[in-house]
Amino acid sequence: MASLGIPQNTIEILKKYNIKFQKKFGQNFLIDTHVLDKIINAAGITEKDFVLEIGPGIGTMTQYLCENAREVMAVEIDRNLIPVLSETLSEYNNVTVVNEDILKIDINKVADERNGGKAIKVVANLPYYITTPVIMGILESHVPLESITVMVQKEVAQRMKAEPGTKDYGALSLAVQYYSDAEIIANVPANCFMPRPNVGSAVIKLCCHKKTCVSVDNEKFLFKIIRASFNQRRKTLQNGIVNDGSTGVKKEQVAEALRQMGLAETIRGEALSLGQFAEFSNILWDILKR
Ligand code: SAM
Repeated sequence: MASLGIPQNTIEILKKYNIKFQKKFGQNFLIDTHVLDKIINAAGITEKDFVLEIGPGIGTMTQYLCENAREVMAVEIDRNLIPVLSETLSEYNNVTVVNEDILKIDINKVADERNGGKAIKVVANLPYYITTPVIMGILESHVPLESITVMVQKEVAQRMKAEPGTKDYGALSLAVQYYSDAEIIANVPANCFMPRPNVGSAVIKLCCHKKTCVSVDNEKFLFKIIRASFNQRRKTLQNGIVNDGSTGVKKEQVAEALRQMGLAETIRGEALSLGQFAEFSNILWDILKR
């Protein structure tokens, strides 16, 4: 099967199967071999790797993955694309296509069963409507992971890399940076896709930490605090946490933790670094246990 990275080949398959792009599934298929090469090189796929691909579409990137990896599992929600994938991937015996919603897949189980519990690589041109739940879900469920290399909306890539004090900094930046080192690999213009998305795109690679870079007593509590702190961006961190209600923390307790850290009660969430959030949540957790 000729490469689907070449637009003419994609057009042929789309015609043959009379494929109507499903907007609700975020279907924008890649039609640029340079971008595909860049993604595969950045992901550093070798014949030792088990790769999970989210949303193979008509199999464009899957072909590249199959050429380079030991084994590929490709999870596609749209059942109309399954017969297409049977054709476009017919020459590979190292791929399994699963017709399912990625959010319903137990990826820990997949890594266990298919890769002996060893670290897997995730590669995807993600459907943008579920970028955050997919990334957060994988990171927070402690799947054994080497890296996640994904195409996302450009703004989302910027949020993942954002530093404290900037407008893009928030819960996603902190979660991504807690679990990984993020590197933007390339900006990708809309004309590399069919149909063209009406947003800019970027490839980002998250290299997962073997050990987290900050010491945290209760990870779940840390992320509750982080989410609450950014829930109401215009409010102070103290009001955000108290108004959120999900953390069970009282105003005086937030004030005491801030005092112990030498921070003002009026401080906003976006001013705190990951290290400071870790310290703040450890202190608050101690206060709550009293
Ligand atoms: N990988 C292909 C490419 O690069 O050309 C297609 C990428 S397209 C942006 C996203 C793909 O994800 C579509 O094929 C879409 O049907 C699929 N998809 C959307 N939601 C999904 C979900 N919840 N679980 C699995 N696949 C999904």
